[in-house]
Amino acid sequence: MEYKIINYQTLGSTNELAKSIASQSPEGTVIVAEEQSQGKGRLGRSWLSPRGKGLWMSIILKPSIAFKDLPKITLIGAASVNMTLSEMGIDSLIKWPNDIVINGKKICGILTEVKSNMSHIKSVIIGIGININQDLVDIPRDLRHRASSLKIIKGEEINRDKVLEELLDQFKRLYLPFKLRDDISEAINICRKKSSILGKEVFVLKGKGGKKLGLALDLDREGRLLVDYGNGPERLYSGEVSIRGLEAYSK
Ligand code: ADP
Repeated sequence: MEYKIINYQTLGSTNELAKSIASQSPEGTVIVAEEQSQGKGRLGRSWLSPRGKGLWMSIILKPSIAFKDLPKITLIGAASVNMTLSEMGIDSLIKWPNDIVINGKKICGILTEVKSNMSHIKSVIIGIGININQDLVDIPRDLRHRASSLKIIKGEEINRDKVLEELLDQFKRLYLPFKLRDDISEAINICRKKSSILGKEVFVLKGKGGKKLGLALDLDREGRLLVDYGNGPERLYSGEVSIRGLEAYSK
């Protein structure tokens, strides 16, 4: 897989642009924007992407996979971000299924989307947003208790190009075994070892179904979360679920 990086100043959303060009673009096409005016989170939520302060990017992928395997791409992304930060001397944890947190605050979110017809997936778009050089004033007051940036944590400006370069290397290293041999063992190992929730009590939010308290037990080999609500383990698919800790990042 060869990467081809396309840079933009302002986009609504790198995922939207990537989706619009996916069918004519080879695997490994990377869209990077200095700023997103309508950055997206999961389930219709928004992702703040101020100009020049973060890495706002999407990668176009063309794996032959079934819909049920899509969450694995998110986990590969999460493990890649964790490894990238770790290479830079920054310890982070993975909040299954799609966030990277440091000291209980979110510094990265991942949004995986598809271009497909009724029966099969044509392209997968993985969007990764990393808060890099925001100062506290760049983070809205109502998010400060649960969002941070690498600069706030490290106390120094960080080179965004270096983060991108390392991230693309790490992503390729974890994605190719999955694409070629359906092997996500290393990505899952990283997600387990660096999980912010395993062994802890968490609230599981499912659509309008309210929140349920359970104990996060483990990730299985497919990357699903095993949760015990009191009646033994149940498997959670990432799609419609949000996890909240009991303390930090609890709203
Ligand atoms: P959740 O964390 O609620 O499952 P998402 O992963 O989809 O949701 O992320 C979107 C949420 O993250 C938004 O609703 C907002 O609370 C928060 N958010 C938005 N922009 C940022 C950002 N740049 N950094 C950290 N958190 C953000």
